[in-house]
Amino acid sequence: MTPVLLFLLLSLMSRTVFSAPPNAADEDPDLESMDISEILETANKGLDSREFPDGDIRVNRKRNAVPCTARGCKWPKSRWSRYVYIPVRISWSFSRAERNVIIRSLVSFYRSTCIRFRWRSYQRDYLSFYPGTGCWSYLGRQGGRQLISLQKRGCVYTRTVQHEVLHALGFHHEQVRSDRDQHVSILYQNIQPGRAHNFRKVATNNLGTPYDYNSVMHYGRFAFSKNRQPTIIPKPNANAVIGRASRMSANDIKRVNILYQCSESKLKTRFSELLSETITHSS
Ligand SMILES: [Zn+2]
Repeated sequence: MTPVLLFLLLSLMSRTVFSAPPNAADEDPDLESMDISEILETANKGLDSREFPDGDIRVNRKRNAVPCTARGCKWPKSRWSRYVYIPVRISWSFSRAERNVIIRSLVSFYRSTCIRFRWRSYQRDYLSFYPGTGCWSYLGRQGGRQLISLQKRGCVYTRTVQHEVLHALGFHHEQVRSDRDQHVSILYQNIQPGRAHNFRKVATNNLGTPYDYNSVMHYGRFAFSKNRQPTIIPKPNANAVIGRASRMSANDIKRVNILYQCSESKLKTRFSELLSETITHSS
């Protein structure tokens, strides 16, 4: 095969975008009552807090501790495309149903963002979903193979996949936002010993978007509680519902579009074309 043909073939493979598989497995109805922080807290009990100082965000010891807002943290958008293509691999240790939940969750980004996932072929940087211990992700693009752990029992749900992918896209937890003190109170007296690091405020770039109780990145009212008393209380309305999102919120989507400079008008005109994109998922 000539180098030109090989290049064309690899280019075609690398641009292959997948869409949601049919008959994807339904999620466990028992989990419908759990919020994202309950899911994470349950699955991540055994994780070492030195490796995970921000809950389910893993520290990369190979990189220095520059904030994710620094350059190099975003996934690149090629100059000639309106989309941000992120190569992915999904471990074959997941069952077909689990793979379908993951794929369906990834495809959920297509409707209203310019993020697209494609099967990794030769790309250097990619997300690798595997059934490790707990549900966790790194913050932003790390370079090379970047793991996202989705423990088989307890993590393979749409909101968990969306949550961990949003970390990998560069987003922090909502309740650690730089402006969180205007919107929530943290009740440290109710937090389990050794878990206060989960509530450490971060100098986030909020991209001009409002604080969002309904973000899939927001923990629940009783996150890491030691005594069944709340650890996060919204204000000024203490009864507002917080951290119960079962899917990405409109603000979660808006932030992706701002950070990755997705053009909404172009997205709308291209939406019909998405429907014709083929399934390349084989199992
Ligand atoms: Zn998280």
